[in-house]
Amino acid sequence: MKNFDPKYNDIPKTEIHCHLEGAIRTQTIIDIAREYNLKLPSYDASELDKHVKVYEQLQDLQAVLEAFDIFQHSITSPAVFERIAWELFEDCAKQNIKLFEVRFSPDWAFHGHNVDWDACLDGLLRAKERAEKEFDMAIGIIAITSRGMGAESCVKTVDWAIRHKGHILAVDLADGELLYPAKDFVKPILRAKDAGLKVTIHTGEDTPASYVIDTIHNFQPDRIGHGIHSIEDMKAVELIKEKGVTLEVNPWSNYLTNSIPKIEAHPLKKLFDLGVRVTINSDDPEVLETNVNNEYRIAHEVLGMSMDDIALCNRFAFEASFIEAAAKQRIWDRYFKEPSNPN
Ligand SMILES: [Zn+2]
Repeated sequence: MKNFDPKYNDIPKTEIHCHLEGAIRTQTIIDIAREYNLKLPSYDASELDKHVKVYEQLQDLQAVLEAFDIFQHSITSPAVFERIAWELFEDCAKQNIKLFEVRFSPDWAFHGHNVDWDACLDGLLRAKERAEKEFDMAIGIIAITSRGMGAESCVKTVDWAIRHKGHILAVDLADGELLYPAKDFVKPILRAKDAGLKVTIHTGEDTPASYVIDTIHNFQPDRIGHGIHSIEDMKAVELIKEKGVTLEVNPWSNYLTNSIPKIEAHPLKKLFDLGVRVTINSDDPEVLETNVNNEYRIAHEVLGMSMDDIALCNRFAFEASFIEAAAKQRIWDRYFKEPSNPN
């Protein structure tokens, strides 16, 4: 559920794990379908919600990924992509997110309608610039390479990200980890790293701690998406700490994908108490019908983290953000320096 309780909403926040393709408003999907003559199961927002939102825990991660079908087919042009990005930034501003990283998978998002990657990036950059000015925030961009799109797609995405290094901060290897072996992706990801891009990898989401250990050894990532199953092996926890890797955790997402059996069992607090640099994020705010405020609420009210613990997670996210130092400093001075007095 979207949450706007001032207790969480008033906190100037950092979010570092959010997929643009999982953040399209239902009404926007309908508007796009009308404009481009796309077929939808319904053109009524509350009806369509039943098809594009995951409200209850599903069988597994793959089942949740399948819910993205309509989202993928909605990305029909650079102008549409710009609109989607702008609306996501608006939604960030409404919940007082001041430092924000958005990620998307160009090959996955654009291949259906054969949309031009560079033109979409230009649209995204226009939305970013406008939002940074209008909402006084700083925004960073991460390019995803989706495991399911294959090794060639990974090479193509990394090449593209390197070419746009001035605008793209990092690459992320995402998508179901169980179905696709990591070894196919090691070479291109390490090439991105050599070229000066940062690296974050989705791992340990629905896979055991051994995957997290292998990921750290294979990719030397700066951050890890999820990584929650590292809690099952202290060797993984120690390795994460030793390498200074920050975890981008998304509690409600982990529950809905059945990566944890119930929300009360989420290991966020345990990892935090063990000294892991955990951060709290929304993953796919529209598909999963959540926002960062709601994730903070879960951390506090369900998992028993104190508001000071949560403030520290917020700080971890700020510190781990890939956004350029000058932009971070500006936002820090204005909103984060004295948390009790944001202005
Ligand atoms: Zn994710």
